[in-house]
Amino acid sequence: MKTKNKIPMRQCTGCREMKSKKEMIRVLKTPEDEIVLDTTGRKNGRGAYVCPSTECLDKAIRNHGIERSLKTSVPEEVYEDLKKELSKIEKQQ
Ligand SMILES: [Zn+2]
Repeated sequence: MKTKNKIPMRQCTGCREMKSKKEMIRVLKTPEDEIVLDTTGRKNGRGAYVCPSTECLDKAIRNHGIERSLKTSVPEEVYEDLKKELSKIEKQQ
């Protein structure tokens, strides 16, 4: 049975699975060129999506999916910060 659903789907840059936007964490490049985790989904800027798991973030880092989506290079220490932040989110679930 096909139903028309209007849930916006996004692809994880790590595992490449399609999931609804709500289930994803957005990695965002702000207009100030900062790379941050957007947990609210409300910030402006170019975003890459990953599942809320450090495993997927790791994959996205290794396959350069985030850099491709954001069209920018991401320094190692920024990734380290993202991983720390994401692991906090992971523990809250
Ligand atoms: Zn994933």
